[in-house]
Amino acid sequence: MESYDFLVIGSGIAGLSFALKAAEGGRVAVLCKSEAAACNTNLAQGGLAAALASSDSRQAHMADTLAAGSGLNNPEAVALLATEAPGCISELLALGVPFDTLPGGKLSLGLEGGHSHHRIVHARDQTGKYIHQQLLQAVQQHAHIRLLEHHLALDLMIDSRSGQKRCMGARVLDVEHNLLCTFYARATVLASGGAGQLYQYSTNPAMATGDGVAMAYRAGAQLADMEFVQFHPTTLYKPGQPVFLISEAVRGAGAELVLPTGEPFMHRYHPLGSLAPRDIVAQAMQQEMQQSGADSLFLDMRRLSQEHFSQHFPAIYQTLLQQGIDPQEQLVPVVPAAHYMCGGISTNAHGQTTLPGLYACGECACTGLHGANRLASNSLPEGWIMGRRAAQHALAQPVPAAPLRPVESCFVPLAHESALAGLLRQQLQEGMWQYAGIVRTRSGLLACQRLLEQLAHEVEEAQALGRLSPPWLELRNLVQVAQLVTRAALARTESCGCHYLQPDGKPAAAAAEAGLALELEIG
Ligand SMILES: Cc1cc2nc3c(=O)[nH]c(=O)nc-3n(C[C@H](O)[C@H](O)[C@H](O)COP(=O)(O)OP(=O)(O)OC[C@H]3O[C@@H](n4cnc5c(N)ncnc54)[C@H](O)[C@@H]3O)c2cc1C
Repeated sequence: MESYDFLVIGSGIAGLSFALKAAEGGRVAVLCKSEAAACNTNLAQGGLAAALASSDSRQAHMADTLAAGSGLNNPEAVALLATEAPGCISELLALGVPFDTLPGGKLSLGLEGGHSHHRIVHARDQTGKYIHQQLLQAVQQHAHIRLLEHHLALDLMIDSRSGQKRCMGARVLDVEHNLLCTFYARATVLASGGAGQLYQYSTNPAMATGDGVAMAYRAGAQLADMEFVQFHPTTLYKPGQPVFLISEAVRGAGAELVLPTGEPFMHRYHPLGSLAPRDIVAQAMQQEMQQSGADSLFLDMRRLSQEHFSQHFPAIYQTLLQQGIDPQEQLVPVVPAAHYMCGGISTNAHGQTTLPGLYACGECACTGLHGANRLASNSLPEGWIMGRRAAQHALAQPVPAAPLRPVESCFVPLAHESALAGLLRQQLQEGMWQYAGIVRTRSGLLACQRLLEQLAHEVEEAQALGRLSPPWLELRNLVQVAQLVTRAALARTESCGCHYLQPDGKPAAAAAEAGLALELEIG
């Protein structure tokens, strides 16, 4: 049994932000299920939104966030982010994050979709990597923080002695030593990131399986906005290759989305053209591809200078060259991919969930900031701000009664047969991509639900057979989160933000259902 003051599940920006603050008043364990660097934070390219320019304002940042979220946002969460984002930048600078500056020393501010002003603070096109490096270093050097890699949290520990449920920590699998451990803590924080792995095509790494959301759901915590999954419009289209994001900042710098003919089209959908909010751009692209039968659309970056590429987008430029595409000469093929979970575990402005003793922050949480669609670059600042706020709140709470009885760690034989789990994961991802993706229909969502029921049954059987291994545990979480997404999507009968519902009976919907029915029969 391990006992800490604070247990943090996740080593991205939100978890590390919480840990650094909480360590001022207690011992902290930070868990991550593989290497610490394997997280969405590390991949973030564009940057952090903060109203810092003299022409910009907190009100303008709020208005843009509300417009992107179709007004379904929680206005308090929006005001909080817009107010605290400039302070977040100062804190990260103080930790040594090398944000890009202009010759006079002022921060260089980029532009992204849905923003009315230049307000994206960035470090070349690898902002997340630079932030994560600094935070990890600070955490590793801190005497009160223990970072445990390859520790997969399975479920939350709940104490019901007082008649009211309280989270007391988590059951955790030490994957390298096959040990099932118990971590007790006076406050537990879910900072476990998103669930991009629900979909066949995603910008998220393999770890993004919605574990925190599934754990919170099983423990009875409230969730919100699960139907709003954001699809990023521009990932490089290279069949068979891992998905690679081309930051919106590239469009902010002047690149434009075009049809295979080279003709720009986004102005037909939104006055901001290629820089419209992501939900609108992804849906427009999907529509154009459906109508023309094209496999991809294109990003025209040819107007960007060599200097621009090397100064601002060196990693993107290098990747494109490695893929045999010279963006100064050629159009770059792009398609949308699942990117961000706008909903998640409901929290208040202090990161408290509805389950006492449990906090959530970062992408797995839902403060209501994003509403129906996240405004670009609002996620990293939210993760940092909410991590600190949750820690401040947790530090101020009285220490609860000690756990009932200590539970010792025990050796568990891990299931080696994981091929089936991989196959089922693929089925789930394909089903979700086709029927709960960018464009949805009621009949498609219902068919998807049936597929998910079958998968849930497979997972139950595996559990009954004692198959305990990361692939099976992740599949269990993916199936549960997929069910929550489809259920929420079915409950919302009007299109809104990332949830785009097409009427049934359209050719695409009918074909979709026929395809899935066939899959179910074969399966
Ligand atoms: C390619 C890409 C580019 C992006 N660009 C931007 C951008 O420019 N600006 C912006 O604001 N946002 C951007 N985002 C979104 C943003 O990066 C994420 O929303 C944010 O980093 C999430 O941080 P987090 O701390 O919540 O989770 P993550 O950084 O994803 O960390 C999750 C952590 O949880 C751990 N974990 C998960 N499950 C378990 C478990 N069961 N047990 C133990 N540990 C677990 C993981 O190991 C990991 O350490 C981008 C995302 C991607 C994928």
